[in-house]
Amino acid sequence: MIDMAILDEKLAELPLYIYQHIDPSDLEFSDRIRWICEHECPMHGRTWACPPGVGTVEHCKKKCLRYENCLMISTITEVYDIADINATLATRPEHEAITNQVRDILREMGIDPYILSTEACTLCERCAYLDGQPCRFPDKMHPCVESHGINVIPALEKCGLEFQYGDNIVTWFSFLFY
Ligand code: SF4
Repeated sequence: MIDMAILDEKLAELPLYIYQHIDPSDLEFSDRIRWICEHECPMHGRTWACPPGVGTVEHCKKKCLRYENCLMISTITEVYDIADINATLATRPEHEAITNQVRDILREMGIDPYILSTEACTLCERCAYLDGQPCRFPDKMHPCVESHGINVIPALEKCGLEFQYGDNIVTWFSFLFY
């Protein structure tokens, strides 16, 4: 059993905008989100972190619902112009580093979380998926939240949280199931 007071203490030391404990069964898994991956994301079918490599939405849902708890974390960063995709994406490595710090905290507490994070995996220059090979770093790579069909907005609304905090504020989310 995890000591929540200790976890809260450690999370409070990180530059997180928010963190929230949620019940995985409260999450909305939707084929509509998957449709967006298929039709609007250039990374679809290019890494193991994205569909179809992650499996069907039903498969992803089952994977997430194996866990009793989910820790949702969020970071925010202000950029000069949110429409500048390069500036926006430049804020992502910091969020990923913080996600890994939270992973390490949980691991130190004896828990190995299943992590969903942001965008496609960029750990390798060329993803093994493209060559029909297994992922080289399955312990390090985090599939994208949306790849699992998770609709983040209702999850936030249930917690009384916003999706967007301002015009030029980049908001990233990770979900750590344990
Ligand atoms: S770690 Fe490498 S092989 Fe695995 S998903 Fe990421 S880019 Fe692809």
